[in-house]
Parts: sequence; C-alpha cells; structure tokens
Amino acid sequence: MLGETFDVCVVGAGPAGSIAAERLARTGARVLLVDGQKFPRYKCCAAGVLWHDVEDFPEIKPVIENYNYKMTFHSPSLKHEFSIESGDHYLMGQTYRAVLDNHLALLAKKAGAEFRDNTRATSIELLDDRKGVIIDLHDNTTGSDSKIQCKIVIGADGVKSIVRKEHPDFKRWKKSDLLIASELDVPMDEDDILAIYGKERAVHMYLYFHDMPGYAWIFTKKKSVSLGMGTMLEFNGKPYGGGILASKFKEYCAFLESEGLVRPGKVALPKTSYALIPCMSLAKATTHGRNALLVGDAAGAFVSALSGEGIYYSMLSGQYAAEAVLSALKADDASARSLGRYPQLWKKRLERELNYQHFAKRYMLEFKRRCEKAVRWGMHDATIRRFMSVFFTGVYTIDRPFMVKLYSHYMRLKIKDIMGRMGDREKKGDYAGDASKSPSLIPWRGFH
Ligand SMILES: Cc1cc2nc3c(=O)[nH]c(=O)nc-3n(C[C@H](O)[C@H](O)[C@H](O)COP(=O)(O)OP(=O)(O)OC[C@H]3O[C@@H](n4cnc5c(N)ncnc54)[C@H](O)[C@@H]3O)c2cc1C
Repeated sequence: MLGETFDVCVVGAGPAGSIAAERLARTGARVLLVDGQKFPRYKCCAAGVLWHDVEDFPEIKPVIENYNYKMTFHSPSLKHEFSIESGDHYLMGQTYRAVLDNHLALLAKKAGAEFRDNTRATSIELLDDRKGVIIDLHDNTTGSDSKIQCKIVIGADGVKSIVRKEHPDFKRWKKSDLLIASELDVPMDEDDILAIYGKERAVHMYLYFHDMPGYAWIFTKKKSVSLGMGTMLEFNGKPYGGGILASKFKEYCAFLESEGLVRPGKVALPKTSYALIPCMSLAKATTHGRNALLVGDAAGAFVSALSGEGIYYSMLSGQYAAEAVLSALKADDASARSLGRYPQLWKKRLERELNYQHFAKRYMLEFKRRCEKAVRWGMHDATIRRFMSVFFTGVYTIDRPFMVKLYSHYMRLKIKDIMGRMGDREKKGDYAGDASKSPSLIPWRGFH
C-alpha cells in the first residue's frame, strides 16, 4: 500500500470538483479534494451565473453580490439593439470566481472532504485489476511530494486536465473543440454603475463585434464590470486566438470608452487574462473510464456552445458524477461498466439542451448576417426576444417542444420579413462570406 488511501480523490476544486466532493463527503465517503492553487484563487472567468444556477444550486446564493434585470443585445453593425427586461425576476447574478470557488470548496470541507489547496496532482497511474489509482501530489507550500491511492479519481482539473491527459481511457482535445475568451475586471464606483447601467444593472452582449465570430460582453457587477470577448480558437481554417483576440478586445474596450460605458482611463489592458473553454460535441465526449470520471471543463462537453456558460453545467456534472461514484462504491465495482451510470445520468438531463446550444451557435453565432437579423427581428418581435433570453439566461429547459415552437415562429417571422414588416433587411452582398457556408434551419434533422 502506498501512502494515504481514500475512496475518491477529486483533482481540481472549481465548481465541478467542489460540488462532486461535497455531495460525496455528505454520504460518508472518504474524499480528498486537491487543487494546485492556493485558495482563494483567481480563475479567468466572467462569473456571471444564470437563473438555473441559483435555482438548482441554492448554496451559491450567499456569494451572489448583485443581480441583473436587463440584458441588451447589440447587432454586429451596431445599428440595431434590443433589451430584455425581467421585471421582478433577475436574469443573471454576479459573483467573482475567487469568492464562489472558495465558498464551494469550504462547503465540501464542511461536509467532511479533506481539502488540500496549493497541492498539485503531478501524475496519475491506473492500477491493474480495477484496484484503483495512484496519484502523485506536490505540496507547493512545503515543496514535498507524496502519493495517495484511491478507488476512483474524479478529474475536475479544467481545460488542462492531467487526469484526462494521463488516464489511458481519455483522448486529448482537438483545436476545433476549443473556444477562447478574454476577461478583464474594471473597477467602478457603484454610483457610476447605477448612472450608466441603470438600477437594473444592465448586461450587454455585442454579437459578432467587429467581425469577430462569437460575442463580447459587459457583465455588470456591484463595484466593477467584467468585460470580455469569446470566440473560437479556430474557425473555417482561420485562427482567432492569440494576437487577433487581443487586438479585437483592445478595439472593444476603446469602443466602450467612446460610448461612455466605461470611464476613460479605467481599462487596464495588461491585466486582461485569456483562457480556453473546451466545448466539443457531446457525441464525441468520453466522460468515464476505468476507476475514473471527468467532470466540468475537464470532460470537454459541459459548456454551452452558444454562450460559453460552464459554471452551471460543471456543477451539474459534479453532482451526477457523485451519484454514479456512490453507486460504484456501494457495489464495490469501479469498472468502466459500473461508472457508465454517469453518462446515462448527464445525458438524460443535458444531452438535448447542450446539443441545442451547439445548434444555436452553429446556426446563428457563426454568421454575422444571422446575428444582425436576430437583433433586428428582436427589435420588432417580443417572442424572439423571449427565445433569445431563454438561450442566454437559462430561464427554461431547452427541450424539443421549445425548439419546435422556435422553428414555427421563425418561419412566421421569415414571411413577415419578406413582406418588409421587420425593418430594413440586410443586403446579402455585405455578408457574402457568410452566406456560402450557411446551414439552413432544417428542424427535424437539427432538433434531436
Ligand atoms: C473568459 C471566460 C469567461 C467565462 N465566463 C463564464 C461565465 O460568466 N459564466 C459561466 O457559467 N461560465 C463562464 N466561463 C466558463 C467557466 O469558467 C468554466 O466552464 C468553469 O470554470 C469550469 O469549471 P470546472 O470546475 O470544470 O474547472 P475550473 O473552474 O477550471 O477549475 C479547475 C481547477 O483545477 C485545478 N487544477 C488544474 N490542474 C490541476 C492539477 N494538476 N492538480 C490539482 N489541481 C489542478 C485548477 O487550479 C482549478 O482550480 C468562462 C470561461 C472563460 C475562459
């Protein structure tokens, strides 16, 4: 026997890992939760949470510092915009990842998990005959190395997951599986925030800003705004990360200054951080193997392809992983077959929803003209505004009846548009590059 033993070792204390560790520890399982960084730690993330985060994980409520009641969408040409206002109910909530993740890790600890921050997993080894997994740990505080053995490892270690890399049952990412985003928190006086963004603390979404596929955002917090831009690492054979994202983000910040949305001199561009977001299609995702599960970003599939929202899906995956691991521990069987309960659980709840998000991204967010049209239509039609709010704020489950309603409404609006009742239509010639690759909205093939 090598060093200490645990039932489960959760590598990574982001939302996915801490929820998994907390749920498991609650039932009496011996759980070790390790994270390579000292907590509280910064994570490159806008930390906007949606309605479903708070409804399904009420334990995060204490760290939501303010709520947003308005969301404004801007078209690529910046000529069109519309807002969704939610009245008494919030659309989004805002926190900081340092605060949220620390809170969740402490809840896991309180439930009985042993939490070791500043402790990095440096390698993992799968033992024969389903005996378990050995994990090498490096304690950054003392500089010492140790080994632990566990029956099951949960890889919750994000986009650079070592569990994914070293466990023989998982594959590495392809570039096409990755989104990339920039984030910069700009401190602001609360009075300034209220004067500029209103008492609703409006959130702004700029679709396809300055020819960048994806969108840029302003998330309005209590005493700062999170500015960011998300796109694909590679799209249609062209890279969009690195210098391209950095220069577009600079243009975006300058634009926001010129519009009076941030005060001059407040944007400290060198503080911008960049991170990858794995977002592969669910059909390609492998989330379990021998004595191992992957959750959150490490799994690669638990992110909305449309919005890049990953906190909620990470927490849900952590919860399902805990459920599957408990069954495996009870049956004393950590084989891949036994842990196959995990994909069954997440598929039941998430497969359709995340596939629809992929579809919505492919259909709209990858095409400048469609982004323009979506916002123009939204200005004229309340139902399309509601549909957009469902996709971007997670108020309802996105299921087949929802998509059927969306499709039939889309067809009605298309006819109205042809009749000239939805404002001035975009000139096709202005979006020539777009149209040639544009998939059509074929309902039954796309919606299952
Ligand atoms: C710029 C940007 C903005 C975003 N904005 C939002 C948003 O507003 N709302 C939203 O819902 N989602 C957002 N996301 C997505 C969201 O950040 C992720 O989907 C989410 O953090 C995934 O959580 P996780 O627990 O899987 O992984 P992470 O939060 O990445 O946590 C992984 C943890 O593992 C630890 N770790 C890594 N390697 C090791 C190791 N070898 N040993 C020990 N520990 C290790 C890391 O230190 C880290 O703490 C954004 C992403 C980006 C890049």
